Amino acid sequence: MSARIIDGKAAAARLRERVGEFAAAFEGTAGRKAGLAVVLVGDDPASAVYVRSKGKATLAANMTSFEHRLPADTTEDALIALVDTLNADPAVDGILVQLPLPRHIREAAVLTRIDPDKDVDGFHPVNAGRLATGLNGFVPCTPLGCLMLLKDELGDVSGKDAVVIGRSNIVGKPMAALLTAASATVTLAHSRTRDLPGHVARADIVVAAVGIPHFVKGEWLKPGATVIDVGINRTDDGLVGDVDFNGAASVAGAITPVPGGVGPMTIACLLRNTLVAAHRNAGVALDKDAI
Ligand code: NAD
Repeated sequence: MSARIIDGKAAAARLRERVGEFAAAFEGTAGRKAGLAVVLVGDDPASAVYVRSKGKATLAANMTSFEHRLPADTTEDALIALVDTLNADPAVDGILVQLPLPRHIREAAVLTRIDPDKDVDGFHPVNAGRLATGLNGFVPCTPLGCLMLLKDELGDVSGKDAVVIGRSNIVGKPMAALLTAASATVTLAHSRTRDLPGHVARADIVVAAVGIPHFVKGEWLKPGATVIDVGINRTDDGLVGDVDFNGAASVAGAITPVPGGVGPMTIACLLRNTLVAAHRNAGVALDKDAI
């Protein structure tokens, strides 16, 4: 094995600490804590774990956590009414509705109801449009975390060839937009891409967000490439990524492990987005580059 292991857990801990310091300073200036509301509908066990850890991380970062747990048979109207209440609540800076929602609720109807300036998940079409056009807005937490890890590792990604595998609204598309904005040359690959190994072979940066265990093979990679594995797949061997880690680690220059790579950065970036939202909502200046 030759690749450097990108320690997302350590990077996330540093980011959370910085956010916590800024959040304490925010409380001193604004006279209130930054607040994040998390809404969970139903009893999906994985979602319940995510919501619990988001709540704990929020408190640890000197912010207020508002948790709303609703039964699985909650109507779409009732959920939208809660979103409206949170939109109007000045103590709530960020709103996150945990996905997936029960099938009888239209995700788009709920996500588009969140005030775009409280949309710390960055899923609202207004924020997707802001990202696409270079305006200030909220960027989805997972790709934001990936970009931070890439910048930590490479310094500057300008001019690098990047292949993003997967075109979801949550990971692939915003990742491609972020890398484009950072002046990388981006190929966005997906399930209909022809000759994926040929594209990957030219890439200095590979971001895999596919949802298939061990999908990206070491022999596809350009030697020395930086590999970011977004995948979280539950298998009989435990959690594994979308990249064949052992094969890739002997060719790549640097690689994120699963777990301990991208995953921890996601919650840290959620806290960062909430901090930014709080400053904006309270009219308090914040040097975003400092966090
Ligand atoms: P998704 O299912 O919405 O999208 C998967 C994408 O992969 C699609 O765009 C599809 O075109 C592409 N794809 C499927 N088969 C392919 C193939 N054979 N070749 C090339 N592309 C192919 O998934 P998602 O929500 O983007 O998540 C992707 C992975 O990332 C999952 O494993 C998920 O669990 C994980 N994830 C991790 C985090 C985190 O915090 N680390 C956050 C979100 C998602």
